Amino acid sequence: MFTTAAAVSFFLSGATAFLWGMTMAQDHALVRWRSHEHRYAILSGAGMLMLSDDTSAQAGAYWGGKTALSKQTTLLGVTVTTWALAGRYGMHVAVPHVYFSVIFCVLPLAWLLKTLRRVRRKGSGLCLHCGYDLRASRDRCPECGTAIS
Ligand SMILES: [Zn+2]
Repeated sequence: MFTTAAAVSFFLSGATAFLWGMTMAQDHALVRWRSHEHRYAILSGAGMLMLSDDTSAQAGAYWGGKTALSKQTTLLGVTVTTWALAGRYGMHVAVPHVYFSVIFCVLPLAWLLKTLRRVRRKGSGLCLHCGYDLRASRDRCPECGTAIS
């Protein structure tokens, strides 16, 4: 389970890093997904992943552009743009791809550290579960009861 999750996470990390690289030089959306009725959209462009609550929100520039109609707040690279036009309101949230790449890296790294620890323990004759010295034990770990393989 943990291994599967780590593998999926590793793939997502690579995919977001790839998108990041591919969209860095683009100021338009390279990847676009829209919900039914175009109510919500996820776009990828300019090194950013953007969630928009209204894809007709052309009044506010997508990739960090600012117009007279929009208000923009940026904190730690995350840009929130709100706009209003003819009685309609919308919001875009743009997050740098690299943030997702880093977040998706955490699980694979944890898996790698866990695997390295197991290999080290096995090589040193220690319990794989708790690290107890098993050189004088047979069958089970006297500390945690894990079967010795
Ligand atoms: Zn043990």
